[in-house]
Amino acid sequence: MSDSLSEFDVIILGSGPAGLQAAMHAARAKANVAVLGRVQRSSLYKAHVENYCCMDATLSGGDILEQGKHQAERFGARFLEHDVLGIDREESGRFAIEVESGERLAAWSLILAMGISRNRLHVPGEKEFLGKGVSYCVECDGNFFRDEVVVVVGNESAACSGALHLLLIAGEVHLVYDHLDVSEHLRYQIDRSNIHEHAGCKVKTILGSTGVEAVVLDNDEKIGAAGVFIELGAKGALELAGRLNIALDPDSMKYIATNKKQETNLAGVYAAGDICGPPWQMAKAVGEGCIAGLEASAYAKQVRSKKS
Ligand SMILES: Cc1cc2nc3c(=O)[nH]c(=O)nc-3n(C[C@H](O)[C@H](O)[C@H](O)COP(=O)(O)OP(=O)(O)OC[C@H]3O[C@@H](n4cnc5c(N)ncnc54)[C@H](O)[C@@H]3O)c2cc1C
Repeated sequence: MSDSLSEFDVIILGSGPAGLQAAMHAARAKANVAVLGRVQRSSLYKAHVENYCCMDATLSGGDILEQGKHQAERFGARFLEHDVLGIDREESGRFAIEVESGERLAAWSLILAMGISRNRLHVPGEKEFLGKGVSYCVECDGNFFRDEVVVVVGNESAACSGALHLLLIAGEVHLVYDHLDVSEHLRYQIDRSNIHEHAGCKVKTILGSTGVEAVVLDNDEKIGAAGVFIELGAKGALELAGRLNIALDPDSMKYIATNKKQETNLAGVYAAGDICGPPWQMAKAVGEGCIAGLEASAYAKQVRSKKS
């Protein structure tokens, strides 16, 4: 990777309460900070909050987040409203991040604050064929569908990048979405590919016997397929963290394990908020974000000074 890519001290993945609080503390500690993701996609955005300390009113989650973003920008954090598609660690210890716009960013320290995905379709056949053709992870299960017909379902970056990845493996790739909300770069790549698009559609049911055999859409179109990848939202936190071999909490195997400094098992990588497990509360997310922001900025400054 060239040295000309945009480099930061700390990159924060996620613009929910955890990521915003981390951004404020890291930026105020004079770190050069970038924040990825969108406040509109925080699970708090449509909530009404009554239980946040010292705010004796019912608050709109959207208003809280917009103010938090403004506050973090005022302290110098830079917001890039893109989803992350991939993370790698370079030999130097620096992290390289690929975002949906096609840009590549780098940082000495990362904070994972991508929340949890609630990515079920809730359609007949989804539960029944889980592991028998239904999957929630292109990177984990894509190879089981070599030369087969597969269907990818979702409106955002995870579905598009998943469909593009499956083109390298599967025989035929269908992309089913209601309306696509992705970067121009991803849209351009989809347009130039031979992915079969089913725009303005939802999945009605998944059919099969011992495994998936077909997907029926709400316009009654039936797509014969061996695999269905449900890729709602942005690329899942665990999928991204898995690429760095970040350890999960051994009890749940669903959340990222951290210590009291919000450190993960990988030096330079911190995690905060819902991604670290319950309770799903803004107060917890903000507290963990504060610690992660302070720790990550101190780590990045230390590593950067050793390298220069
Ligand atoms: C309906 C509802 C009501 C709630 N009510 C309350 C309440 O009253 N009080 C309370 O305290 N809590 C409430 N919560 C819980 C609260 O919303 C969460 O605990 C809190 O938002 C967690 O913050 P977070 O920053 O960890 O994650 P989130 O707020 O979910 O933010 C996740 C962020 O990660 C980003 N992201 C995800 N994937 C990627 C990717 N691949 N690349 C880049 N960015 C990515 C998203 O764009 C988003 O910005 C409610 C939740 C819901 C769903």
